[in-house]
Amino acid sequence: MDYLETLLSDLVTASRILAHEGICDAFGHVSFRHPDNPKRFFQARAVAPELVTRDDIIEFDLDGAAVSDDRKPFLERFIHGTLYAARPDVHSVVHSHSRGVIPFGITDVPIRPLLHSCGVLGHDVPVWDAADTFGDTNLLIASNDMGRDFAETFGQGRAALMRGHGSTVVGRSIREAVYTAVYLDVNAQLQAAAMQLGPVKFLSDGEIDLIQSRLGDAKPGEGYDRTWQYWARRAGMADDAPVP
Ligand code: MN
Repeated sequence: MDYLETLLSDLVTASRILAHEGICDAFGHVSFRHPDNPKRFFQARAVAPELVTRDDIIEFDLDGAAVSDDRKPFLERFIHGTLYAARPDVHSVVHSHSRGVIPFGITDVPIRPLLHSCGVLGHDVPVWDAADTFGDTNLLIASNDMGRDFAETFGQGRAALMRGHGSTVVGRSIREAVYTAVYLDVNAQLQAAAMQLGPVKFLSDGEIDLIQSRLGDAKPGEGYDRTWQYWARRAGMADDAPVP
């Protein structure tokens, strides 16, 4: 299998993992940047992530226009294209409405990493509010203008919330983006629980930096690869192939 086919196959696995781990339900989507053309990305047509197959995947330019394909795309594909345009380091994007995160988008309590597995979230998880620029909307990112506004709030970090809507994470790989999406929700659930008990001791900035550098240096079978293999098996997508 060539590298692009491997990534297309991984996109199917990523969709199933995100559904199985409760990050996506009928909604939510994952994409990756074309490895040979940074101005293109791949994403499934508008279908629940649990149902995605290789044949559902469409190629898009960074404006969210499909390349020779007239099947119905996700309305919110603009989240992906505008982030790829703004962030050359980003190679995969996950958008979801995972429930644990929602309270932090509608209160003034920021999400901060509190568990070693969640250091990947970085120092700052901003909240984007569609109403700040666009007034009353249906809260969905349905245009490149909204996407660019969101990407500006997203900044150089790994994750951002959308008020009353959901969250988006980015990664240097599909595996990193999936990992970050799962652990963003884990962190949110644990933070909400811990705050019931009392003041929370979060990771320090130095701890976050050390965790991120360790994950970045992980060898095959460690870090993102170990979680990927575990989640793929749980989702019924056996992944025993060597890591590309
Ligand atoms: Mn959405």
